[in-house]
Amino acid sequence: MTASVDNNLYKHLLEILCDGVYFVDCTRKILYWNKGAEKITGYMSSEVVGKRCVDTVLNHVDTCGIKFYTTACPLFETIRDYRPREVEVYIQHKKGHRIPVFVRTAPLLDSNEHITGAVEIFSDNTPKLLINQRIKDLEKMALLDPLTELANRRYIEMNIQSKLDELCRYGRSFGIFFMDIDHFKKINDAYGHSVGDKVLKMVTKTLLHSVRTSDIVGRWGGEEFIAITPNVDKERLHFISKKLHALVGYSSFSIGSDIIQVTISIGATIAQPDDTVNTLLERSDKLMYCSKISGRNRTSIG
Ligand code: GH3
Ligand code: MG
Ligand code: MG
Repeated sequence: MTASVDNNLYKHLLEILCDGVYFVDCTRKILYWNKGAEKITGYMSSEVVGKRCVDTVLNHVDTCGIKFYTTACPLFETIRDYRPREVEVYIQHKKGHRIPVFVRTAPLLDSNEHITGAVEIFSDNTPKLLINQRIKDLEKMALLDPLTELANRRYIEMNIQSKLDELCRYGRSFGIFFMDIDHFKKINDAYGHSVGDKVLKMVTKTLLHSVRTSDIVGRWGGEEFIAITPNVDKERLHFISKKLHALVGYSSFSIGSDIIQVTISIGATIAQPDDTVNTLLERSDKLMYCSKISGRNRTSIG
């Protein structure tokens, strides 16, 4: 291999690294800035090469926000005492935000062991766990109702669709309960919205404790809830609805001398192979409405 092939090979290796790599001379003028450094910081090589690292916008700070100028700058220290360093700093991205990076510096020596500059290698130190947590939070935000932390409308629709697919493929049927709190507006009007929210949370907890762990309870909107219950027949729908009425009806909390209690009206039905998400929800909603007009605090099954 010739020297020039070697140089190209090293250059290529530096370019494909995910880590940021840059070289400085003894005055800390940046001589080289690789693609990894461009990716992590947002600064292109043309924007930083030729500038002194102290004069650039990189602005390393430590976790306390202390800036590295001449003292404490790992490159400065390495050039001064020829010793490598490892330090965690926050580098400034071109867009302004700070990124945690793990920095390693090493001296660059010529064949006579004279220092010619230093190299800094830095890797994105954003903990992977943090990223995973953010993904989970985003999923939560997309599929959970923020007030009650129940499955939201989107999740309910997705779950019903997958259960309908299972019904067609394997014949596994399931039931739907459409539940609406009776005269909920009166609670808001009499005690205020925050008490209304407290009622929604109370009903949520009771519903979750009234069903099996394999059942799904979600908030359809406002004061409307849906439960999806696999492996049920009409007899079981009756049994479950009785339990729901009793447990919700006997849930309460006090505001001064008043006891806050609500009832629910329910529409319950069993999914059929020719159902769609819409036909199933429409049927259970209509049945719930039948319960409303026939006196509330009851279930209509169809
Ligand atoms: P019905 O028995 O016929 O269902 O009467 P209702 O008063 O329960 O029904 P209506 O649809 O008239 O009122 C529902 C109320 O629910 C109106 C709305 O302000 C309230 N609501 C909807 N979402 C929320 C919420 O997140 N928090 C609170 N506190 N109230 C809500
Ligand atoms: Mg309603
Ligand atoms: Mg209502």
